[in-house]
Amino acid sequence: MDVRRGITVCGIVQGVGFRPFVFRLARARRLVGGICNTSSGVRIEVQGPADAVDSFLAGLQAEAPPLARITDVAVRTLPLAGDREFRIVASRDDAAGRTLIPPDVAVCPDCLRELRDPADRRYRYPFINCTNCGPRFTIVRDIPYDRPQTSMAPFRMCPACQAEYDDPADRRFHAQPNACPDCGPRLVLWDDAGRPSGAGDPIGQAVALLREGAIVAVKGLGGFHLAVDAMQGEAVRRLRERKRRAGKPFAVMVPDAEAAGRLVEIEPAGRARLLGWERPIVVLPRRDAGAVPDAVAPGHGDLGVFLPYTPVHYLLFDEGRFDALVMTSGNLSEEPIAIDNAEALERLRGVADAWLVHDRDILRRCDDSVVMVAGGLPRVVRRARGEVPVPVFLHEEVPPVLAVGGELKNTICLAEGGRAFLSQHVGDLEHLESHRFFEEVVDHFQRILQIRPSLLACDLHPDYFSTRWAEARALPRVGVQHHHAHVAACMAENHLDGRVIGIVLDGTGYGTDGRIWGGEVLIAGYRDFVRAAHLAYVPMPGGEAAIREPWRMAVGCVAARLGADACARHLPRWDGVDDAHIRFVLRMIERGVNTPLTSSCGRLFDAVAALVGLHPRVTHEAQAAIALEMAARRSADTEAYPLAIDRDGDGWIVDPRPLLQAVLADRAGGRDVPGISRRFHNGLVRTFADLAGRLREETALTRVCLSGGCFQNRCLLEGLLGALAADGFDVFSHRDVPAGDGGLSLGQALVAVHAAR
Ligand code: ZN
Ligand code: ZN
Ligand code: FE
Repeated sequence: MDVRRGITVCGIVQGVGFRPFVFRLARARRLVGGICNTSSGVRIEVQGPADAVDSFLAGLQAEAPPLARITDVAVRTLPLAGDREFRIVASRDDAAGRTLIPPDVAVCPDCLRELRDPADRRYRYPFINCTNCGPRFTIVRDIPYDRPQTSMAPFRMCPACQAEYDDPADRRFHAQPNACPDCGPRLVLWDDAGRPSGAGDPIGQAVALLREGAIVAVKGLGGFHLAVDAMQGEAVRRLRERKRRAGKPFAVMVPDAEAAGRLVEIEPAGRARLLGWERPIVVLPRRDAGAVPDAVAPGHGDLGVFLPYTPVHYLLFDEGRFDALVMTSGNLSEEPIAIDNAEALERLRGVADAWLVHDRDILRRCDDSVVMVAGGLPRVVRRARGEVPVPVFLHEEVPPVLAVGGELKNTICLAEGGRAFLSQHVGDLEHLESHRFFEEVVDHFQRILQIRPSLLACDLHPDYFSTRWAEARALPRVGVQHHHAHVAACMAENHLDGRVIGIVLDGTGYGTDGRIWGGEVLIAGYRDFVRAAHLAYVPMPGGEAAIREPWRMAVGCVAARLGADACARHLPRWDGVDDAHIRFVLRMIERGVNTPLTSSCGRLFDAVAALVGLHPRVTHEAQAAIALEMAARRSADTEAYPLAIDRDGDGWIVDPRPLLQAVLADRAGGRDVPGISRRFHNGLVRTFADLAGRLREETALTRVCLSGGCFQNRCLLEGLLGALAADGFDVFSHRDVPAGDGGLSLGQALVAVHAAR
């Protein structure tokens, strides 16, 4: 007996090959009806034998294309109609206007097979793609998402490509970047003057250069990479020198999961992310410190690995048989990644030896995403290529709002209805170069998402570029405290409402008292918060200088909590720091000159790292804290240093005095650095779990949110997740949204919406 069903599918189901998928699904079951895009998703009508319709419904979710994310399926019964076949119905204009642009996607297995098949017309074609794979977000200028609005516009499809594009049964039906060697973009190798390097295969030429240890700038999806053979230590060191990147680890691209497995320990959650079509950099524990030269990730216990994601990457590995290539952003230190051919030639001159470029423009800068694995779950550290512009689905409807994020690791968030769109990683807005990128992202997001914000959210810090930018707009604005935004981001990601205990362990954030916060326990809802506990204030002698020179934090902490005398007796000797330096810093503290007060947990990490002799100076953010974590991982010590929890009015102050005493005593007693580091981590875990317990007694709240940049520390995150769960709390942490400042804008958006209600 025949039945007819009307099916509405919501989520990311447009521009991801969903219609041809449904078309094939229906045809295979000899069902009639049709499918069309609507403003909220797709609408399907199918008619045929009841069991065939049931099988269709089952396949709809189970076999959906890899890029689709179905959030909701509604099915209703309809009266039978007289269709003779299944058709794809043209979209109405208003529907096309709301089509979500998918993120960039790694080469799919079908395309990879063709790429390697000498009989295929796209054999070794560096721009092969289909409905399920290829560039998306980074080639889109405007909506609707159609070829004329992408950087494929100048390439006119040849008859063979056009036929594929027009055929609903073809896997390249409406694949906007569809191309072939006859009609599509071309690859070319440039020398350092931008001259094409003559005849010959550019891949072969690039491979030959890489084998010689040369640095090749490779144009990718969201920007240029600087590539070098990771196994050649000398070449990697040369890259560090030229890129002016001293100690920060490089990520390496490896040909496949097996090759990755030789370098790092791949946990199951890590493996899925490594192989996923988003192809992020996955940070995993190194298997054998000697497997790659030390210059790749000096002194690091972890290594960031990722798999090829463009046809060009696959061709380089197929041809070159490299074990691993360093693939680092094509930029100098913290500047935005280069995307334009001429720009890359200019900015990377003197860094790269050759440029592997092509004539398809990158319209949107987008770095590689970075994911770590902690507590058995993958967690996004940097949200960019492959993740953007996939929305965070909210548990409530919000009016159109734009949140502009913080100062470092900036992202913006544009939200409306049940969806919040976090932008790609914009980076550090201390750099002028980044300001333009920030404005491009704000503009591009508003255009492609068709969201016109009626409300702005920004940080409370008066001097942040993003704050000043927001203040210059004519829209209503809500200033959001930094750590409140962190908690709200964690709540939003986990679909929480009401109030929670928010433990925010962080680097730097502007407090409501004008001081620098960062070791905070907040009782918070979206609308407001109470500061229930925080680390005791310690001086930050020299302000920003204390971040670059952790020894100053060590002096500040010891002087403030144990007294200036203790400094004379107990401080270690640091290279390049003599008694005069220390006396000078002590005087700064005494007189309060250029010495802000901070409750930052990140700065406490810095101080302890310096006290045990790790990195009295750092070359990149969190370097000392990371070294401390790496050391702690080498110890199984279960002792915990005590921190004092003192009553302070209605709240609590966490005083590191006994911890500092214990660190100094253990150091004097000859305990090794891993043991001290582990006891320090254990101490923080025990103290904040203890605080959560006290606050549960006071408030009856049982849900805890963990957020802030320090939770990129696996020891700390896994320790607190374990301790709180064991104590009966419902613990929530970040997965798709960064725990650090990359997630701030999401929290700002939610706080602003609730505060403005
Ligand atoms: Zn494909
Ligand atoms: Zn063609
Ligand atoms: Fe923060």
